[in-house]
Amino acid sequence: MSGHSSVKRRMQALRSALTDYNYRYYVLDDPQVPDAEYDRQFRELQALEAEYPDLVTPDSPTQRIGATGETSFDEIVHRLPMLSLENAFSEDELQDFDRRVRERLGTDTDIDYVCEPKLDGLAVSLHYEQGLLTRAATRGDGYSGEDITANIRTIPSVPLKLRGEHVPPLVEVRGEVYMPRAGFESLNGLLRDRGEKTFVNPRNAAAGSLRQKNPKVTAKRPLEFCGYSVAVENEADLPDNQWDCLQLVRQWGFRINPEMRLATGVDECSAAFTDLLNKRADLPYEIDGIVFKVNRLALQQQLGFVSRAPRWAIARKFPAQEEMTTIEAVEFQVGRTGAVTPVARLHPVFVGGVTVSNATLHNMDEIERLGLHVGDTVFIRRAGDVIPQVVKVVPEKRPADARAIVRPEQCPVCGSDVIQIEGEVVARCSGGLYCPAQRKEAIRHYASRKALDIEGLGEKWIDILVDQGQVETVADLYRLSVSVLTGFERMGEKSASNLVAAIDGSRHPALWRFVYALGIREVGEATAKSLARHFGSLEALMAASDDELQSVADVGPVVAGHIRSFFDQPHNQDTIEALREAGVQWQTEVVEAASQPLAGQTWVLTGTLSSMTRDQAKAALEQLGAKVAGSVSAKTHCVVAGEAAGSKRTKAESLGVEIMDEAAFEAFLQNHNITGRDTGPV
Ligand code: NAD
Repeated sequence: MSGHSSVKRRMQALRSALTDYNYRYYVLDDPQVPDAEYDRQFRELQALEAEYPDLVTPDSPTQRIGATGETSFDEIVHRLPMLSLENAFSEDELQDFDRRVRERLGTDTDIDYVCEPKLDGLAVSLHYEQGLLTRAATRGDGYSGEDITANIRTIPSVPLKLRGEHVPPLVEVRGEVYMPRAGFESLNGLLRDRGEKTFVNPRNAAAGSLRQKNPKVTAKRPLEFCGYSVAVENEADLPDNQWDCLQLVRQWGFRINPEMRLATGVDECSAAFTDLLNKRADLPYEIDGIVFKVNRLALQQQLGFVSRAPRWAIARKFPAQEEMTTIEAVEFQVGRTGAVTPVARLHPVFVGGVTVSNATLHNMDEIERLGLHVGDTVFIRRAGDVIPQVVKVVPEKRPADARAIVRPEQCPVCGSDVIQIEGEVVARCSGGLYCPAQRKEAIRHYASRKALDIEGLGEKWIDILVDQGQVETVADLYRLSVSVLTGFERMGEKSASNLVAAIDGSRHPALWRFVYALGIREVGEATAKSLARHFGSLEALMAASDDELQSVADVGPVVAGHIRSFFDQPHNQDTIEALREAGVQWQTEVVEAASQPLAGQTWVLTGTLSSMTRDQAKAALEQLGAKVAGSVSAKTHCVVAGEAAGSKRTKAESLGVEIMDEAAFEAFLQNHNITGRDTGPV
């Protein structure tokens, strides 16, 4: 007796859970559990009801279709009920179905079935009077649905008028409204950009779009319609089988599914199932199985219906693409361009045909939008070969010890600062030249044609050199020798010595090439040239403040932020220093006129300066636009006179040319933000 009462309690719990799920799914278009979970509970209830028929209640979800709830649309009563379908989750269940069909029909011969892809959208019924679309309804509870005529009229693949000459006076076409994958992705992208709630899957997106109060909103949604059944008042107006009926539907101007085919006997059905399953990921829309329908309408009639589904059709389901699991941890991965991406470690779950234990979370905005915590129960979706995604959090299941997710301040790979520039969604490791995660990309970029143009240093070499631990940063390239290179498998003497020569030949790049080669984010060729022209030397660029950087043409706050954070990283400074020590010497550039207050002037240096060398003083003056000459003339603008200045100073005095002593010169340079000591190649 107690066993019976515990069964009763379980059935009651299942009924109540499934009723809630139905409401969330059919009325709110916001499922509380993935379909697979719904299906498991539904089948458990079905099994218990089969075992204890006296405990079946009329309000059981197994006895009903869909869900009813308050709606804002008018009600439409269906002329013929819009039923659900029986499901088969295995080959055996499909074989059982075929056996039952043949037993009921009392035949041993193979049955003809139409195999129709089961589009994952929602069923609608369209009524045409004298060939014109007059009303459209959702399935609702199977007996009455919602009047969605205005919204349906916005779908381009729904004909408003049927084509052809002999269209019966009253026609009902049923079919699926669905959202193709591409449309679903772009719709969700749009919602994500606006910070709005996204749809879990294309089915929910289609349902939500169709039940909009404003048809203008529906019109903007990428919906399609595909017909799969037809009814008319006078049966004689239709062919005697489903296949030909659908050809007629096509002639009237509807789309029917091109993957549809005819099968004779259940084994051909199984083959059709396997074929379509293999194609599933490549189709531009989602399908969740195949519907097998007895082809001959007379046989369909003979078979009839059970409470909620026809006996002449079955849906053989594909593996679920959504499942529920928990988030065990969130880790941060660093990509080859430095993007720091959160990755969810999941309690392993079988979804989309494979066991999944990681899912991408894209970025922190996405985590915030989902409201995700470590410990949460989530929906995981894996459609086709797409990387598994967390599409939804189930807040009701959040444990008390759930933890918020915080972005790391330091790169988990190299320890450099992680920077998120304002206005950017992606956070990045700023250790560009140094970070092992970015190593290969940094080297590839450094050697590329527009950068240092090291011929022969392609991906093959980079892979070997990095994987074998020979090259950690670009500075290590300059230490490579022919003997080291020929030590690698399949690397000949000639290609090794060519590579060493090419690396050697890259030691004196123009400054802009070197700046570009550093691989600072968003510093392309043109920006590198502007920077080189503006600052004239790497040192001046490295020391430039945010404001100074932004005074350069095409450098805005974002790019300035990237440049500053790159040069602020001690690791990057070390690598630049190591390059310098390895003999890489970038050329200084003539600074552009706007920042060259001394342009057109000729200056002369004489005597000994205590705080800088003659070369450094010369470079500083050149950076400001002056020409530095060796002798004084009437055209000389200024003479910088150090200790023990001799004849040049005297000549300047006699010609009335301005003379600056060392202290004045230093102050002058400082006024122009230049420290003579640090200027120019060292
Ligand atoms: P069903 O989806 O299994 O089958 C009937 C539907 O299949 C039709 O209404 C129609 O929309 C569709 N269909 C697609 N192609 C068709 C074709 N060629 N011919 C005929 N029909 C075709 O049954 P159902 O009663 O609509 O819903 C059950 C499904 O909905 C289950 O998969 C279940 O997981 C899901 N569901 C999920 C939740 C949840 O909370 N996640 C709740 C309720 C239902």
